[in-house]
Amino acid sequence: MPYMRTTRLVFCLVTFAATTAIFGAQADEFKTSAGILKITPIQHGSLTIEAGGQVIEVDPAVSGFAKAPDFSAVPKADLALITDIHEDHLDTASLAKVRKPGTMVIIPGAAATQVPDGVVMKNGETKKLTGKLAPFTIEAIPMYNLIRGPSPGQLFHDKGRGNGYIVTYGGLRIYLAGDTEGIPEMRSLKNIDVAFVPMILPYTMPPEEAAEAVKAFHPKVVYPYHYGESDLKVFEKGLAGTGIEVRIRNWY
Ligand code: ZN
Repeated sequence: MPYMRTTRLVFCLVTFAATTAIFGAQADEFKTSAGILKITPIQHGSLTIEAGGQVIEVDPAVSGFAKAPDFSAVPKADLALITDIHEDHLDTASLAKVRKPGTMVIIPGAAATQVPDGVVMKNGETKKLTGKLAPFTIEAIPMYNLIRGPSPGQLFHDKGRGNGYIVTYGGLRIYLAGDTEGIPEMRSLKNIDVAFVPMILPYTMPPEEAAEAVKAFHPKVVYPYHYGESDLKVFEKGLAGTGIEVRIRNWY
């Protein structure tokens, strides 16, 4: 019998290790007027939001920046949010793994060929969801490059193509910036509780620029995500003394 017990303990430890590896980092809980909301980083630009028994998967995708997550092991989505057509955000194979019958997928129009049943939102649009997703409101925020692109005169992300999103639940406002530079539409955001902000060069922005933009809209909590090998110390230093809480998690 002692042998059996040891085996079971080892099995439990292995299961736990596998779970943490799949989800990349710890889950954080936030109090809202509608109960607890939980956020779990997965990798790079992918994360899970859970509240009121509903699951939102954000950009479920395999990226070249991180170890491939096992999307068949993450909670199935009631709602998936897709920010852009780039493969580290829209990956139809990973998206298929998090879907179940009835999953609503919100996409920018540019993703409509790849996700024919997606619900298109345009920059600036607000959608109050219905049915079991009724506690959630989704706003589509522009995400684009101001100056950076693959060649002169071109941008990696053209204005209007992709969507950042604000997810509101029980009064808590979560901003998912997507791939963007520190655009005016980000800097002028109001009442953001939790923000996810990217910083990869050459595609988005360096950490000092990201910190400047975050300072301007002053969320309560900010998670650098989609950061690759960016120096997060620079980002933290840029926000030191502002009262904005920087949460570093393991996204890779
Ligand atoms: Zn990206």
